[in-house]
Amino acid sequence: MIVGIDLGTTNSAIARWHDGRAELIPNALGATLTPSAVSLAEDASVLVGAAARDRQITHPERTATTFKRLMGTSQKVTLDGVAFTPEDLSALVLRQLREDAERHCGEPVTGAIITVPAYFNDRQRKATRRAGQLAGLHVERLVNEPTAAALAYGIVDRSDREPFLVFDLGGGTFDVSIVDVFDGIIEVRASAGDNRLGGEDFTAALAVVARARAGVPSDPASPRLDEAVRAEAERVRIALSDADSATFSLVWADRRYEAELTGADLEAAAAPLLDRLREPVLRAMRDCRLRAEEMSEIVLVGGATRMPIVRRAVTRMFGRFPSHVIDPDRAIALGAAVQAGLKARAADLAEIRLTDICPFSLGTDVADRGPQGQILAGRFKPLIERGTVLPASRVHRFVTMTPNQAKVEFDIYQGEARRVDANVLLGSLSIPVPPRPAGEIALDCRFSYDVSGLLEVDVTVLTTGETHQLVLTDDESIDPAELAARRAALAALKMHPRDEARHRALLARAERCFELFLGNQREFVAGLIAHFETVLATQEPREIAEAHAAISARLDQLERERPS
Ligand code: AMP
Repeated sequence: MIVGIDLGTTNSAIARWHDGRAELIPNALGATLTPSAVSLAEDASVLVGAAARDRQITHPERTATTFKRLMGTSQKVTLDGVAFTPEDLSALVLRQLREDAERHCGEPVTGAIITVPAYFNDRQRKATRRAGQLAGLHVERLVNEPTAAALAYGIVDRSDREPFLVFDLGGGTFDVSIVDVFDGIIEVRASAGDNRLGGEDFTAALAVVARARAGVPSDPASPRLDEAVRAEAERVRIALSDADSATFSLVWADRRYEAELTGADLEAAAAPLLDRLREPVLRAMRDCRLRAEEMSEIVLVGGATRMPIVRRAVTRMFGRFPSHVIDPDRAIALGAAVQAGLKARAADLAEIRLTDICPFSLGTDVADRGPQGQILAGRFKPLIERGTVLPASRVHRFVTMTPNQAKVEFDIYQGEARRVDANVLLGSLSIPVPPRPAGEIALDCRFSYDVSGLLEVDVTVLTTGETHQLVLTDDESIDPAELAARRAALAALKMHPRDEARHRALLARAERCFELFLGNQREFVAGLIAHFETVLATQEPREIAEAHAAISARLDQLERERPS
């Protein structure tokens, strides 16, 4: 069976597509959430899940949690003197999930869809794939968490709808995506997030207040006390989701420390965090040029959206109440299971398709001329911008900068910063070119990128017709047949919209109209042609399709009105 796995910061879950629906698989304890915690027992055995999480207070130096935040870094976590990479720890959680699922379902797990935060970069995605492989899983695909949540939600009510917004606040991360379902295609229109904002930050803010009010001493030498305060603050914060007040109570060194905390205390302590929820929401709406009123629904996902203060903040932001159709803790795993069903080609899912958007920009480095004509190297030129619907292919023309330049270097980056050294370097292409005066050699650089993270970079030297290609994937162990199939799918996109027959036909029709008409009507047609050419140059399929339909309709109208 192919499973869907939500590898969460706080909790993880595993699910499958079974009997026409997504279904969570319980672990050996009968729970559908497994804490993402690992602990080394005194006999050197490894504990994973609830047993490990429960040792966090008693054995903090032997227990690791929230290691997902370190994925893709070289930081290690030391448990009782043994150093673990974040991948090692994630692999232990994944292995536990796999074994529990195999035991419960009585069949082997042959493949897995694993979810990752949308903003995870190439390094973090590779680390997640490696963790899957270490756990003995064949990782079929990584899916963005908000996309998975949207998939779970889109499947609940499959009818076409206006765009809806998925607001996902988990233990350690915050993701916003705007999605619509059209003609059986679930389209993620935009996604944005903050990878340093989640339930744990609310807990940390409340812990500061609780500590001061209960008079807990600070002892920098005791990580255990800090951990005990944090765990108690977390309990109180969760209790405040269902009650107006709760008692913080901690026994330490034979003394009891107590304080009564209210929802208002949490709200005051968390005010800066609540403010930070706004920016990703605004960015996602800006990226797809939609306004808050245009969202048909606001869907809450992620355990931390159970906090009433978060719900109130969302209500204020949108001027209406959010909806929560699916259990917010489990939506991501259920969505991953839908994706697993799609992968296994379940008959009842045949008519559903998913597109995703590029969560980061992809581009190359260029040099500009400064005010004194000096060369300023290392500027980022995005070719596929954040928010582009995938799969996508975009081309840009570059020219040589210096006389008799012998080669042109294309370094390929992922990120948003203007200076490339702040972005993630994915690979390089060095193209030899014939010596000519500056600006005389033109090169077309094309980026083609699919939903599974396959990036093809094609460079054509226009003067010589020579072509060069670089293929990059976040999956080093990809099956050659699958790679060939994915590359063939991308090849179909490698045409400038300007050269597509249907767009050329429309332009030819408009040119004929220009010849037929006179005066204002002729000017109007000239305006339509200029507009369509500008839209074609953007290479944005959605905008081009809209402009094509609008211009055809205008030409129909002109031709109808023309006296014969
Ligand atoms: P997730 O990463 O989606 O599993 O979210 C886990 C986060 O949700 C943790 O920070 C939990 O403390 C938080 N959480 C779970 N249940 C509640 C609740 N009833 N009230 C407040 N926070 C909760």
